[in-house]
Amino acid sequence: MLVASTILTCLTLAMALVVGRRVRVWLRFRGDSVVRCPENHRPAGVRVDAWHAPVKLRLTACSRWPAKAGCGQECLAEIAAAPEDCLVRNIAAKWYRGKRCAVCGIEIGASEWGPSQPAVILSDKNTVQWKEVSADVLTETLESALPVCFGCHMANRLVREHPELVTERNSPR
Ligand SMILES: [Zn+2]
Repeated sequence: MLVASTILTCLTLAMALVVGRRVRVWLRFRGDSVVRCPENHRPAGVRVDAWHAPVKLRLTACSRWPAKAGCGQECLAEIAAAPEDCLVRNIAAKWYRGKRCAVCGIEIGASEWGPSQPAVILSDKNTVQWKEVSADVLTETLESALPVCFGCHMANRLVREHPELVTERNSPR
C-alpha cells in the first residue's frame, strides 16, 4: 500500500513537472513573432506552435505563406536563440517604454496595456493600434511612427469615422 502510494506521488510530481515546463515554454513562445527571413532577408511575421515547442520547434503561420509554405523554416534558429526578442508584444513594449503620447503628452506606461492598447500616428496622420499592424511591417512602421495613447487614438478615430458627431472647441461658429 505504501509502495503504491509512493509510486502515485512520484507519478503526480513527474506529471506536474512536465506540465509546468510546458506552460513555462508556452508562455515564452506564445503570440506573433518577427524574424528576418533567411530567404529574402526581410522581416516576416511568424507564429510558433508554442504548446509543442518543448518537443519540437516549428511554425504554424508565416506572412510569406502560402507562397513559401514549403520552406525549411530556418528562421526558427533566430527564435530559438532569443524567443523574447522576436515577440511582437515585446518589440512594441520596448518601443513604447519611456515614450509620451505625441498628442496629449501623457506617458504611455504599462498601465495602459490590456484592452486599451496604445497606438501610433502614421505618416498619413491616421492612427492605428500597434496590434493592428502586421507583424512583418511592425518594425519599419515603428521607425517612422509617433506614439499615441489609447484615448487620443479613439478621439482621432471618432473624428475620422463620425465627423458629424464632433465639434472642435476652437473652430469658428
Ligand atoms: Zn494622448
